[in-house]
Amino acid sequence: MTNTLYDALFGIHEENHNTFLICDDGTEVSFAKFVERAAQIAHVLVDCEVGPGDRVLVQAQKLADTLALYAGTVQAGAAYLPLNTAYTTSEVSYFAEDAAPKLIVGDAEGSGDLASIAEGIGAKFLTLSQSGGSLSSAADTKSRYFETVHRNPDDLAGLLYTSGTTGRSKGAMMSHKNLLSNAQALTDLWQITSDDRLIHSLPIFHTHGLFVAMNTSLLAGAAVRLIESFSVDEILSELPKSTLMMGVPTFYTRLLNDDRFKSDLTQSMRLFISGSAPLLAETHLEFEEKTGHRILERYGMTETNMITSNPYDGERIAGTVGYALPGVEVKVVNAETAVAVGSGEIGVIEVRGDNVFHGYWNMPEKTAEEFRDDGFFITGDLAMLGSDGRVTIVGRAKDLIISGGYNIYPKEIEDVLNNCDGILETAVFGIPHPDFGESVVAAIVTESGATVDESVVEKVVARDLARFKHPRRYVTLEELPRNTMGKVQKNVLRETFS
Ligand code: ATP
Ligand code: MG
Repeated sequence: MTNTLYDALFGIHEENHNTFLICDDGTEVSFAKFVERAAQIAHVLVDCEVGPGDRVLVQAQKLADTLALYAGTVQAGAAYLPLNTAYTTSEVSYFAEDAAPKLIVGDAEGSGDLASIAEGIGAKFLTLSQSGGSLSSAADTKSRYFETVHRNPDDLAGLLYTSGTTGRSKGAMMSHKNLLSNAQALTDLWQITSDDRLIHSLPIFHTHGLFVAMNTSLLAGAAVRLIESFSVDEILSELPKSTLMMGVPTFYTRLLNDDRFKSDLTQSMRLFISGSAPLLAETHLEFEEKTGHRILERYGMTETNMITSNPYDGERIAGTVGYALPGVEVKVVNAETAVAVGSGEIGVIEVRGDNVFHGYWNMPEKTAEEFRDDGFFITGDLAMLGSDGRVTIVGRAKDLIISGGYNIYPKEIEDVLNNCDGILETAVFGIPHPDFGESVVAAIVTESGATVDESVVEKVVARDLARFKHPRRYVTLEELPRNTMGKVQKNVLRETFS
């Protein structure tokens, strides 16, 4: 019996008594105990009639047992489907109807709603929480050995919904090979080993916290300090005991904004990694000034796992996302013609490789639209390729503003605005305009205590940018609308200011 993902990530640890998870309450779970727990949970799944190819929908807290549920689902041959814990009942209901899982696992609190969703679609329902739950207690009574269900590299291991930044989330079908090939590439590139201790304060319902962080740690046998959610206090106390951190850009800006964050805390740290949203070049530079560490930025998406990364040994350049990962092909093309653009020119990123998903769940037309005949997936992100293959992300194609027939890239304007005194961050977006098609609006967040003089900003804009790119309207906001992954929701801004 082989099971591509299970064997590589979990099966190898049956005899590994090193510490794997270090939880908030101080509990430590060894790799071997974790694998036994996964087996117990796999038995419960089988009792719930979960079989090969079935989906297990999970909306649960960040617990050791939640991760063991991921492992147990893979071992039982099913597909793991984690959902954002912030999703409301009506949102979960949509995903449940779309994915038709055999089993729904929810938090004990609010379980009434989830239980009725499960009933409505004829699924079983179990709970998982810090204090126990029906899944945990059922698992306690089971054998610690489970006969792993055979699965091929192309079988489904995960159904992961996208973050919903640009519209309704789509279910990305991830195979065993998709997940394993990417974990292998990242573990090698970032030199993750069993000597590492990862600070993990990301959610585990997203590709970043679940697949990038957990799959690499499992593959390498690294310890993981599982923190329920990001808090500066917690990170400051974990840094001196750790070697590795993965985060979204806001983690880094929040650390830099705290006076207690000093370089001596980072002496044992080997690597800081950032992704999920663009890391401002300023944050990268400020972090290096303060700690001597150059944050390693990488780029990826739910549908493709990780696509590019700055190098471990070579130059990590602020504002760029580095090179295509080994085994991953990247092109930057003209969106209409699909012909590669010249180096330094802006086009859409396309990607091909074992990392790329098998299509959107229940959306054959959408899937067909997003793939070229030669197998390249159209990411929808705009970028420039350097002559040496280095990638610089320019933004999302959906956020491109077209005004008076000109293409306007919000990032170019944001970069200019971000350099103005008193401005902390900005988001530039287009709203409908009767003559020009769209007009440019800039949302500004000022540094704390600062006021920004619009006429000064306009002078800088007039100096640095062609007239057609000038924002026609400035709005000042307390903060930019962001989702749980720290991504700026430009669709929310467009709706609000249209
Ligand atoms: P949806 O597809 O549902 O609108 P989403 O695209 O935000 O949501 P994810 O798959 O979580 O869902 O995010 C992938 C996107 O995040 C990428 O397409 C890219 O736009 C952005 N991204 C990820 N890493 C980076 C990075 N380092 N720099 C810039 N953008 C990034
Ligand atoms: Mg997307």
